[in-house]
Amino acid sequence: SNHKHDKDKGVNVQVLLRCRPLSEDEIRVNTPVVISCNEHRREVSAVQNIANKQIDRTFAFDKVFGPASQQKDLYNQAVSPIVNEVLEGYNCTIFAYGQTGTGKTYTMEGGGKKAKNGEFPSDAGVIPRAVREIFDILEAQNAEYSMKVTFLELYNEEITDLLAPEECSKFIDDKSKKPIALMEDGKGGVFVRGLEEEIVCTASEIYKILEKGSAKRRTAETLLNKQSSRSHSIFSITIHIKECTPEGEELIKCGKLNLVDLAGSENISRSGAREGRAREAGEINKSLLTLGRVINALVEHSGHVPYRDSKLTRLLRDSLGGKTKTCIIATVSPSIHCLEETLSTLDYAHRAK
Ligand code: ADP
Ligand code: MG
Repeated sequence: SNHKHDKDKGVNVQVLLRCRPLSEDEIRVNTPVVISCNEHRREVSAVQNIANKQIDRTFAFDKVFGPASQQKDLYNQAVSPIVNEVLEGYNCTIFAYGQTGTGKTYTMEGGGKKAKNGEFPSDAGVIPRAVREIFDILEAQNAEYSMKVTFLELYNEEITDLLAPEECSKFIDDKSKKPIALMEDGKGGVFVRGLEEEIVCTASEIYKILEKGSAKRRTAETLLNKQSSRSHSIFSITIHIKECTPEGEELIKCGKLNLVDLAGSENISRSGAREGRAREAGEINKSLLTLGRVINALVEHSGHVPYRDSKLTRLLRDSLGGKTKTCIIATVSPSIHCLEETLSTLDYAHRAK
């Protein structure tokens, strides 16, 4: 796909594959491994040899991260170049796509080890590392800048503000009861009415915001008895940087980075589209399917890009296509028990290339 990218200047979609290691429990019960990663050849193979069922398929990606890959390697090789584009004024989006339990949240947020003396832990994910690098670069450049972040959750095509105080996380404010809503701005763009924007000045402020938001995501899950596997979360960082042209003119460069932890890609209808779950399943699949179609249309230059078909793609419209960079991190499990889902993730991610 590399020369495709070269030809299609302006459309830049990278697809990476990450396979997590077996968990301790899986190792204890001798779970067979059916996925092998060749990082050098950038290929992933799924092999299963059972008498009546033979599977042997190989998929190529822009980058492959095997079970031993470290958070910092994934960040340095895949995310850091994108962060630099954001600071050049691009809008960029990084998605984590995959079956529940394969490492989307681990990749985006981290493994949950606590930070010690301001240093973040080795298992810190893409979001804290991106934030730190952005601050480091801006400070080193002695740049004049401002940064704001938003953190929202999309569940059942409904937006929850993960940064708002509890009582108004679904409403513009406590009194009006006007719902937070996705609005057209009349110029072809969209904005979220009522969404909390936090101005941040230091990296440690962002860690607090991130912690607050993910804690809220977990509480909401327990309260509503739902699983994070059914919601998408979008953490967005917008940066304005003041620059001076050689002629002494001031201009403002604006870049945006969206970090998206997608709903679990497993076919929810298969686990029983029970009453009330049917709509949910449909909506989740709608967002994921539309995202796939949008990315396909962008890569293939097929004219019509169906942004409007889901809230997820409407929300991210200004960061998908045109002068933007997109990176999809597809996550899989190496276990034999996940093979069917792994194959569908590999297919989905491969089609996005
Ligand atoms: P998801 O968000 O896709 O449902 P999680 O990120 O919650 O999955 O990961 C499931 C479990 O596997 C967690 O306990 C997580 O810490 C662990 N895990 C996932 N990916 C890795 C990895 N690359 N290395 C080590 N542990 C991982
Ligand atoms: Mg998760």
